[in-house]
Amino acid sequence: MAPPRSSNDDDEEFEFGDETNASRSSINDNKDVSTSPSEDVSTSPSEDVFSTPPTSQSSSADESVVFSPELLGMYYSRLFPYHFLYSWLAYDPSSLNPGKKGASSSSSRLFAHREFSMTIEPQPGNEVYIRYQSFPSQEELTNAIIKRRPTKIDIGAVFNHPPKDKHAVANLQTVQRELVFDIDLTDYDGVRNCGCEGAKICNKCWKFMGMAVEVMDQGLREDFGFEHVAWFYSGRRGVHCWVCDEQARTLSNEARSAVVSYFEASVSK
Ligand SMILES: [Zn+2]
Repeated sequence: MAPPRSSNDDDEEFEFGDETNASRSSINDNKDVSTSPSEDVSTSPSEDVFSTPPTSQSSSADESVVFSPELLGMYYSRLFPYHFLYSWLAYDPSSLNPGKKGASSSSSRLFAHREFSMTIEPQPGNEVYIRYQSFPSQEELTNAIIKRRPTKIDIGAVFNHPPKDKHAVANLQTVQRELVFDIDLTDYDGVRNCGCEGAKICNKCWKFMGMAVEVMDQGLREDFGFEHVAWFYSGRRGVHCWVCDEQARTLSNEARSAVVSYFEASVSK
């Protein structure tokens, strides 16, 4: 009686076959990752360096949230900041300037080679995770998001070819990936004395996130010399840091691990 898992002919569910596999801990093979509301909401399919895989945290905090596909559709058609997303991921600030026409070809290529993944819900309760989506332009990304109305969008790596062509190319490989940190309040359970644990957060323990951001932001800028450090609320119980400098995007896995280790040493007792 379960509805067919997908009627969408471009669903693709594959293991992420790139070299960042080793550091992935929150996304598995994505065979119908039935993302219950308590699942990790990381925007980063390939980096989850600070968190352990979510296991048993409760979703009680969300039970009062009413989800409406109509509101989501309205959000995507009226409010979603497509132009900022494009400008960021094309690394082309000039694209925000309405008078300016035509991004450089390297910017457009960066964007077109970026993997997006979407979690969609073709029927209520039937979540499908679609990988290896890519879009030649902001307009095509916009159209796809409005049409599919994803409940979650993951931003993946930049590949040597557009990921949507993966069947047509022999060697799809990651060429760039922001340096991403995922800091979670559950990492602080040992020192949270406010009574919260797991997915619970309050104004008291949220201060740990503020401290983590200050320490890491300063370390990334002053100790490593990065300039383009973006912080995002994860949507649940932590924050994500995306280091976007070109040098950061092209770091080897070994170098990424080294940066992570540096901060682990700094934050541990
Ligand atoms: Zn608390």
